[in-house]
Formats: sequence, C-alpha cells, structure tokens
Amino acid sequence: MLIDIERLSEEGLTVSKDFEFLSVDLVEENTVFLQPTHADVVIRKVGEEISIKGRITANLSFICSRCLAPFEFPVDSAFDLIFLPEELEESKDELEEGDIDKGLYYGGSIDLAEVILEQLNLTFPVKPLCSPDCEGLCAVCGRILQSGRCGCEVKEPDPRLTRLKTLVKR
Ligand SMILES: [Zn+2]
Ligand SMILES: [Zn+2]
Repeated sequence: MLIDIERLSEEGLTVSKDFEFLSVDLVEENTVFLQPTHADVVIRKVGEEISIKGRITANLSFICSRCLAPFEFPVDSAFDLIFLPEELEESKDELEEGDIDKGLYYGGSIDLAEVILEQLNLTFPVKPLCSPDCEGLCAVCGRILQSGRCGCEVKEPDPRLTRLKTLVKR
C-alpha cells in the first residue's frame, strides 16, 4: 500500500486496515498467523517530515525455543515514527545511529505495508518462550517437562568430580 506524499492533505490520512503478511516475511521462523495484522494509522505531513502514528494488533503462533511446543503470541503495539525525504541533505545527518523511530522515504512515497511489517517484527522476542519458566524437554526421554514429571533420573554431574577431571587434564 503506497502512500503518495505529494497528495497527502492537511488533515492527513487515516488508515484502518488488515494486512495479510506471509510467515516468510517474518524474522522469526516457524511462525504462523492466527489472524491478520490489523493496523490503525494516522499519516501526517509536518513540514518536510512525515509522521506515522498508530497501533498494530495481531495474533501469531510461535514455537517455544526451549520445549518446541507452539504457543499463542498476541501483539498489541503502538508506534510513533518520523520519516524524512531521502533527497534532503540534512535527513541523513538528522538520523542518529540506532534511532529506530526515524526513517527515510524514497521517491515521494512510503510503502505502509513495509512500515507495518517492520513494526510487527520489532515486537518479537529474541528467544520465544511459551512461559518465562519453561523447563524445556527432558534430556532423557524428550518429554515436555511442563506437562508433568516423566520420572527419568537426570544425573547431575558431581561438581567435585568435574573439578577433579579438569585438574587431571592439566
Ligand atoms: Zn516451552
Ligand atoms: Zn524423561
């Protein structure tokens, strides 16, 4: 969805829309959309700057990086972004490194779908977990430990023995 900057009116443009993204567009592999990404956005022209302010909601299914079980990941995220025209010399100077709230736009238009997709990707955890205290899988039988103890005996290595071994190695 291309936003033509030239044709933006004084009062701006309000967009309320569902975006159908593909899982391959996401930074996190093995992610499934349970519902489309919905965005409510207001796009305004403030001098040379374009302000894009809004909120995205989505519901995805992630794979837990510890126990490998799928879990629901609801997204509800607000954002407030500024885009500067690429042609403007001061644009690049104004962009500080690591400033994720500012961007450049090229050729007089902004692809709103791209902006929404980036914001969606930014909400994702680096290491998805079904719960913060997920215990993962049993090292012996591979069962998910969360759903009850499997009864396997996991032998903790004796710390004294490990130290002895390192000593012997030297
Ligand atoms: Zn888990
Ligand atoms: Zn087990």
